[in-house]
Amino acid sequence: MKFRVLVLGAGFGGLELTTILSEKIGNDLDLTIIDKSDSFYFGFSKLDVMFGNKPPHSVRIPYSSISKQGVVFRQENITSIDPLHKRVTTDKNSYEGDVVVVALGADYDIQATPGLAEGGNEFYSLEGAIKLRDVIPQFRKGNAIVGVAAAPFKCPPAPSEAALLLHDHLVRSGVRAACEIGLVMPWATPIPPSPDSSTALLKAFEERNIHFIPKKAVRVIDAIRKVAKLDDGTEMPFDLFLGVPTHVAPQVVLESPLAENGWIPVNRNDLQTKFPGIYAIGDVTSVGTPKAGVFAEGAAKVAAEAILASYHRANYASSYKGTGQCYVEFGEGKVGRVDVDFFSGPSPRGTHTDASEEIAIEKEHFG
Ligand SMILES: Cc1cc2nc3c(=O)[nH]c(=O)nc-3n(C[C@H](O)[C@H](O)[C@H](O)COP(=O)(O)OP(=O)(O)OC[C@H]3O[C@@H](n4cnc5c(N)ncnc54)[C@H](O)[C@@H]3O)c2cc1C
Repeated sequence: MKFRVLVLGAGFGGLELTTILSEKIGNDLDLTIIDKSDSFYFGFSKLDVMFGNKPPHSVRIPYSSISKQGVVFRQENITSIDPLHKRVTTDKNSYEGDVVVVALGADYDIQATPGLAEGGNEFYSLEGAIKLRDVIPQFRKGNAIVGVAAAPFKCPPAPSEAALLLHDHLVRSGVRAACEIGLVMPWATPIPPSPDSSTALLKAFEERNIHFIPKKAVRVIDAIRKVAKLDDGTEMPFDLFLGVPTHVAPQVVLESPLAENGWIPVNRNDLQTKFPGIYAIGDVTSVGTPKAGVFAEGAAKVAAEAILASYHRANYASSYKGTGQCYVEFGEGKVGRVDVDFFSGPSPRGTHTDASEEIAIEKEHFG
């Protein structure tokens, strides 16, 4: 009998894990990967889309192109997960596996910030980024705010990148002098685990007259007055609001016995949940790394290794190191890099590499 694996979610983590299992098990694998969407896209491509640098269709990689030994893709909406019986129900079918891997990412709760849907814009979904292609060119004077509603949020550098890229866009349009840019973040520094990257970003903000507003979060958008209200009561008037919405685990996860305090806890050694044979990787977990594709990919490698060990009835002795490389857009065609290590020392440690055109090319190869 073939080894039956269900992979829930064909994002960064799900696709990486599927590729490894297909390569290692081949024809003895019976893997079904399920996603409600018809295509994959890199998170950072949303920045390209919102500033009109790339058309939306060019950043989509259709799942119909998946062709891997032992793998079947199903475009279906997952409606329930029964971890005790390793059973998954979708809007069209129900499935059982020997192993289930939950890689369903994080969703956005737009309603958690009253007024955001009516008076602001979010750039974290592809739909939001597509809408902004028409909105951003209309902004030619006044106040722009890039504002975060709550932590945790995907890709901690992304709000800083959006502010820097907005600056570039306004310079190119010849209207920068007529505009103010503010960046509201819940943390004291832009990338807390990497003080050197934070210093480099703060310097870049200062050089470009971008106002960094630390340790604050956006609570409410007053759509009529065009004012963002922060958690300390401060009111910031705006003409353009680019928001990072509150992140939540997908509803199907929250309704399952897997979720605790909003996310799925896992064993850091093998990414297994408290249910034997049920693994969780990437943004949907509370493993302790940032919500980013590089960490989802790293977790997928570890979970795949643990699953392969169980398949071969071998001992598994590895563990998830929580290391990853994040690229940071500094604008003007330059990209910096931060190499972060979350679990080897007593606290997370980041090593910064200054922004350059060479690292921009490196990022292109990564994508
Ligand atoms: C603006 C922006 C910039 C970013 N830049 C970077 C970057 O430079 N580097 C980096 O590493 N990361 C970056 N990220 C973060 C990165 O995109 C995510 O952290 C990463 O995609 C998480 O991978 P994942 O596998 O956990 O989840 P995802 O890739 O989000 O995949 C989850 C999948 O589950 C599917 N799904 C969810 N619910 C259901 C359901 N009920 N039924 C069926 N399918 C379902 C979704 O359709 C999705 O395809 C960025 C994100 C944003 C928003």
